[in-house]
Amino acid sequence: MRWGLIGASTIAAEHVIGALRAAGQEVAALHSGDPTRARDYAATHAIPAVHDRLDDLLADPMLAAVYISSTNEKHRDQALAAIAAGKHVLCEKPLAMTVAEAAAMVRAAESAGLVFATNHHLRCSGSHRAVRDLIRAGRIGRVLSLRLFHAVHLPPHLQGWRINDPSAGGGVIPDITVHDADVARFLLGEDPVSVVAQMGTSGLGQGVEDSAMSVWTMPSGAMILAHESFTHPFAGSGLEVHGDKGSIFARGVMTQQPVGEVDLVTAAGREVVAYASHNLYVQAITDFLAAVQGKGQPAATGWDGVASLAVALAVRQAAETGTRQHVDYGRAA
Ligand code: NDP
Repeated sequence: MRWGLIGASTIAAEHVIGALRAAGQEVAALHSGDPTRARDYAATHAIPAVHDRLDDLLADPMLAAVYISSTNEKHRDQALAAIAAGKHVLCEKPLAMTVAEAAAMVRAAESAGLVFATNHHLRCSGSHRAVRDLIRAGRIGRVLSLRLFHAVHLPPHLQGWRINDPSAGGGVIPDITVHDADVARFLLGEDPVSVVAQMGTSGLGQGVEDSAMSVWTMPSGAMILAHESFTHPFAGSGLEVHGDKGSIFARGVMTQQPVGEVDLVTAAGREVVAYASHNLYVQAITDFLAAVQGKGQPAATGWDGVASLAVALAVRQAAETGTRQHVDYGRAA
């Protein structure tokens, strides 16, 4: 399939262009708001066509799909334009600035009969899928709690709009809490009902939060503790799921690489859990292609992206107001 890239981004350069090619896809065209940078980027990444106007890229009938990885405030309009042009869409998280905008994108794709996916990479990793399988198989019994450790250090080359531009969707909550919300939904198979939260700045954020901690309540009664930050160089990432018959400890797994260790602890002792170490982004694209062929759903659907955004925005609202917030999913729940 031929793809158009919308956004000359770091994530496309570092992960997604390579993943598309590894999955046998052709990266045929690029649209960027900056003509000069776009041509440098296209030359560096061997992308044959550059379009300064999005409409010109979308007018190419040979492009079947687009990958949107612009800054967050642009996703909605770009996705709606791509859908109107009949393209399947793989869109970066957060899908949009509001739940209503995100839901409108997903509904538009549904009405047009197009595949729309959210690029939540963590649920594509072998480690997260292994943790989910252990939970589903009942290996830890009834799930009591999930702790998500996702306080990392934002690398210097990403310290731009994420730390200083609320209008572009900056802040650790739209950037990382949104991933954690997807992880929780993916692992536990249920949607957070309400959240309490605090957020702040701890060295990087200018006008947006760079750190957040929150507690989420699930319909089952399970409690979730989530910690995200841009300012923790040595904290390490991971997750723990605790049940009444066992616990799962996954260290170093909140990452873009297929790495980390997963242990299961039960009355029988501690066992190391093996998992598949495939590339997360190739898996996302493989699942997307299957969906285009009518064989199943993308790894994270559009509605998954609406739901993760709904949780993240509830966390921010809870932190801003100092009150418990019920999560408003629109039509996603
Ligand atoms: P970047 O800042 O690298 O790119 C975002 C946009 O900024 C680009 O589309 C481009 O605009 C512009 N831009 C990029 N580099 C420059 C530059 N040197 N000078 C001026 N403008 C520049 O962002 P990321 O790649 O980190 O993130 C893009 C999207 O992907 C976000 O929505 C983010 O949340 C998501 N993301 C998802 C990840 C995942 O694993 N799922 C991981 C990282 C990010 P233009 O559109 O005009 O080309």
